[in-house]
Amino acid sequence: MKQSKLIGLIGGMSWESSAEYYRIVNREMRARLGGAHSARSLMLSVDFANIERLQHEGDWAALTAEMIAAARALERGGADFLVICTNTMHRTADDVAASVGIPLLHIADPTAERIKAAGHSRIGLLGTAFTMEQDFYKGRLNERFGLDVLVPGAADRAVVHEIIYKELVVGEVRSASRDAYRRVIANLVARGAQAIILGCTEIMLLVTEDDSAVPLFDTTTIHATAAVDLALS
Ligand code: GLU
Repeated sequence: MKQSKLIGLIGGMSWESSAEYYRIVNREMRARLGGAHSARSLMLSVDFANIERLQHEGDWAALTAEMIAAARALERGGADFLVICTNTMHRTADDVAASVGIPLLHIADPTAERIKAAGHSRIGLLGTAFTMEQDFYKGRLNERFGLDVLVPGAADRAVVHEIIYKELVVGEVRSASRDAYRRVIANLVARGAQAIILGCTEIMLLVTEDDSAVPLFDTTTIHATAAVDLALS
């Protein structure tokens, strides 16, 4: 039997969500191929303390250099394509893609495809402040897929961001924070969101469909599943 492609994962941002990527690619591969099949993968997992500091200092040049170094190491290791296991770090995706000879599976693309297939056009976006406020993510959803993207108001964005960096990336899942996310989601739905993108790879650790009146699109599950699609193509 022909081997599946080797998935190159840039992980550690945070490892709490990278562990989910690892679980999902293996679970999906077994579901599709049966038996003892698992995903062929290579993960380069970074030290998130350094990444988080550079993000908050706004040093995207250093962050881009680190992502390019990781991508090249995975390419040298034999990866057939790349998966950056975080939404936020897709700010560097174009530069990373241009610096290697293997394809990069952008997290926003399979997410948008699923949203469109489900018939939604107006969607709420939850993520880090970088993802909610800058254009690299919202812009791609809008320009390439025609989606109308709503983000929470300033106070709600601060709540969503703080919970990611103070709790979720260090493995803390609190019910008070789930309640806070429920309120933020309800505010987006009241403004017309037909669905919500969990646009940070740790949010799926906190929130489930039970916390929302509209469908949720979890980028961790969607991205990891799309990686298996590509590995088998
Ligand atoms: N994992 C998160 C995301 O998907 C946040 C951590 C990071 O900044 O990379 O955006």
